[in-house]
Formats: sequence, C-alpha cells, structure tokens
Amino acid sequence: MNKDVLVMIPGPTPVVESICQEMGRTVQAFGDPRFVADYKSLIDDLGALYNCSGVTFPLAGTGTLAMEMAIANTTKRGDNVLIVSNGFFGDRFIDICQRKGLNVDVLSAEWGTFVTPEEIDRKLSEKDYAAMTVTHVDTSTAVVAPIAEIGEVIKKYPNTVYILDGVAATAGEYADVDGMGIDVMFTASQKAFGVSPGMFILWAGQKALERRKTLGVIPEYFVDFDKWIPVMENPAKYFATPAVNLIWAMKESVRIIKEEGLKERAARHRKNADAIVKALESIGFKPLANADCRASTLTVAIYPEGVDDAKFRSTMYAEGVVCANALAAYFGKAFRLGHMGNITENQIVVGLSAVERSLKACGIDVEMGKAVGVYLSEIRK
Ligand SMILES: *Cc1c(COP(=O)(O)O)cnc(C)c1O
Repeated sequence: MNKDVLVMIPGPTPVVESICQEMGRTVQAFGDPRFVADYKSLIDDLGALYNCSGVTFPLAGTGTLAMEMAIANTTKRGDNVLIVSNGFFGDRFIDICQRKGLNVDVLSAEWGTFVTPEEIDRKLSEKDYAAMTVTHVDTSTAVVAPIAEIGEVIKKYPNTVYILDGVAATAGEYADVDGMGIDVMFTASQKAFGVSPGMFILWAGQKALERRKTLGVIPEYFVDFDKWIPVMENPAKYFATPAVNLIWAMKESVRIIKEEGLKERAARHRKNADAIVKALESIGFKPLANADCRASTLTVAIYPEGVDDAKFRSTMYAEGVVCANALAAYFGKAFRLGHMGNITENQIVVGLSAVERSLKACGIDVEMGKAVGVYLSEIRK
C-alpha cells in the first residue's frame, strides 16, 4: 500500500497542491513563447525578491552543483580561499576547493556554535583571499550564521568574494543580496522554496560578475556564468535544456513567497522554530544549536538518555512522518526535524505528535499531547 508520509527532513519539504499541479502540466517546448515569458518572469522576480542587481540563475541541478558554480566562477587554481564552517555542509566546500587546486584555510566552529565575525575579520586580514564561503544554516547542526554582520566585515576586503550557501535557509531565514554585501548566494528547490528536488537558484552580484571577467576561459562547462548569462537575459536562447516543469513549479513557489512577504515568512519560520524547540524540550530533548545561533528552518534535537535512534526513526516512519538522522559525531545521539518552506502548523502538530508516540515506543514515559500542547500555546502567543 502506498501511504502518505509527511516529509519533515531538511529537504525535500512538503510540496503544496498548487506547486504539484505545475509539475504535472503538459510540457512545452523550451522555445515556446509562453514558456520563455514564464522563465523570464521567474528570473526577474527572483532577482528583485532578493535585491540582486547582478544576474540570477535558476538552473537544473542540486545545491551541490550551485556550490561548484560559485567556486568555479570566482576563483582560479592557486587562489586562497577561506572556508567558514559551522558543520558538515561548510566542510563540503573543502573538498570542492581542494579538487580545484585552491589553497584552503578553514575556520571551524565546534558543532552547535558559530564562527564569529571577529574571528573572520582576523583571518581575512592575514592574507589575500579570493573568496570566502559561509553556510547560512548548516543542516548538520541547525546553526545560523550572522550573515549581515559578516557582510559588514567583508566591506574591508574588496578582493574577497563573499559566497553564501543558503541552501537550508533562503526563503526561510531572511537575506538581502546587495543590502548585506553578499556576492554569491544560492539555494535549491527542495528546501525552503517547497518545490521538488531538481533545481537550484544562484544569485551573482556585481563583484562576482567582475571577478568572472578576469578569469578568461574556465575549466568548468555547464556551470560557467558566461554560458548562461545570455540565456538569463533572453531565455529564448539555448545553452542547455531548462527544467520546464520545475521552472513553472518554482514560479508558483515565488508567487506564494511574494504573497506571504519575505520578512513575514522569516518571522513565521522564527516563531515556529522557537515553539518547536520549546515543545521538544518539554519532553526531554535538547537542541544541539546554542540559543544565540539557532536556525529557524530545522532543529537538531538530542535524545533524552536511553533512546535508540534507529527505533525512534523507524517508529516515526511507521507513524507517518519521516525525520532525518543526525550526522557525524551526533549520529545515533540526535535526530533532525525540518520545518521550513510551506509546512503548515497542522503538519507540525502531526510531526510533534509522532515524536511523542515514537519516544514512548522507545521506553520513555511521555505524557501524550504534552509537546503538541506546548507548541500550540507558544504559537498562539
Ligand atoms: C542540502 C544542502 C546542500 C546540498 O544540496 P543538494 O541539493 O543535496 O545537493 C548544501 N548546503 C546545505 C546547507 C544544505 O542544506
């Protein structure tokens, strides 16, 4: 039997009916004037929404490809790169950069904490860095980075391109590309945009575009800004086939985001996250991320003493909710609960109720309805 399982992993996130319908439409030729107009309006809307005066690239691929695109277009072999890492996804840039022959320096935070703007400032002053990578929300720790403050620091370093991985943040946490001094930002369709996997969006500001011009021919082909800029300016042009139905789905997602408002959407995420943390704490969980850097898009919750991770997560699944395992040193000790995008309060109630039942199945004495009650009273405050 095919049963509905609510996705509460940190992506894919729940996809609402109106977005599903766009994915199910009869396909059009990528040169069809109707599709060309749709693609153009998506590109323009995304640029305006995130205040990016450069070029916005909504393309086929995943968040990891966007990471590669960011590095490919702003650095060349032998350049120095600073990687600011608050967890697993921050570290992913190390491999990407080393394979490209970059000299990598890493500033890492202990899991659950963040690298401060002061530490970044000190490190940037040591040598000339071509680029710096920051992860807005690291999905392994649920730590959010202070991206605006980091944007202030980077103003002192005009040669350093500020690359922001917004994959688990953008459209949940607030961001403003030009306003925060971000030179490259990117996200993927399956996270807070609430679309199925298969697309990423990359915003490139003026500084990043200027940098690309200094690099000449780059080794990477599909992700080369120069290949895509003419298409982004005029989507009637062809470079590689656009993901037609996902572009429509993304367009519907942007319509929903604009209707809600970017700041209002961020406020909803914040309120939900704080209420979820209180709810989970009320039944014995502890959030991994410190209170001063807790993301609003997902929670990494450390189990109370004596809970078997595999049993907890398999019970969650049997109860109709899928959550994610924790990573690295926290594997087995915590689970990850995504609550970003178009997820509703009703769905969160279902998720928390499954958490209560799964905890009980693991032998913990839980009062049924406790976490749900805390969530509901917090969210109404
Ligand atoms: C999910 C995620 C990625 C990777 O995205 P994929 O679409 O899985 O390639 C990168 N960075 C962060 C912060 C993520 O959460």
